[in-house]
Amino acid sequence: MNKAVFLDRDGTIIKDRGHINDIKDIVFYDFTFDCLKELQKNFLLFIITNQPGVAKGIIEVASLNRIHSYILHKMGDHGIDIKEIYCCTHKKEDNCICRKPNTFFIDTAKEKFSIDVKNSYVIGDHLSDIELAIRINANGIFVLTGHGQEHFHELNQQQRQKIKICSNLKTATKTILKSINNGT
Ligand SMILES: [Mg+2]
Ligand SMILES: [Zn+2]
Repeated sequence: MNKAVFLDRDGTIIKDRGHINDIKDIVFYDFTFDCLKELQKNFLLFIITNQPGVAKGIIEVASLNRIHSYILHKMGDHGIDIKEIYCCTHKKEDNCICRKPNTFFIDTAKEKFSIDVKNSYVIGDHLSDIELAIRINANGIFVLTGHGQEHFHELNQQQRQKIKICSNLKTATKTILKSINNGT
């Protein structure tokens, strides 16, 4: 069985610039590549992102594909292997099966890559990322980059107890590496 880290995209590995429609608006945090290089020594890496801008007509599918090719290409340049970018292009009102916190994409990855979900991580800057982590019984890490600071108050006491809260992906990575070194 493989362990995985399921990464949110906007506000977690790249800066949150609203609905991104152009690769020029993709700005990686300066720690992103180093963190992912460390994490991939022990984990398969996935990106799971909600992009409702597509359903709303703000983001073109062609742009979205270009953006994701660009992200994979940049990752590749740094020797990082992202197994899949899973993207929900629906809006909330569509009640689709794939929008986070729905577990569809993780269920899919679990089958295809035989993931040990319980020892895997979900990292993101929204309540939906944390709800997803809790639903699948994985380790959740809420980061304060992107919308994290702004949405922190939405996490209830129970959620806060179940997850870890980190200032960014860099401290999240340290937290993960520490826990695997402690054998927990
Ligand atoms: Mg986000
Ligand atoms: Zn969806």
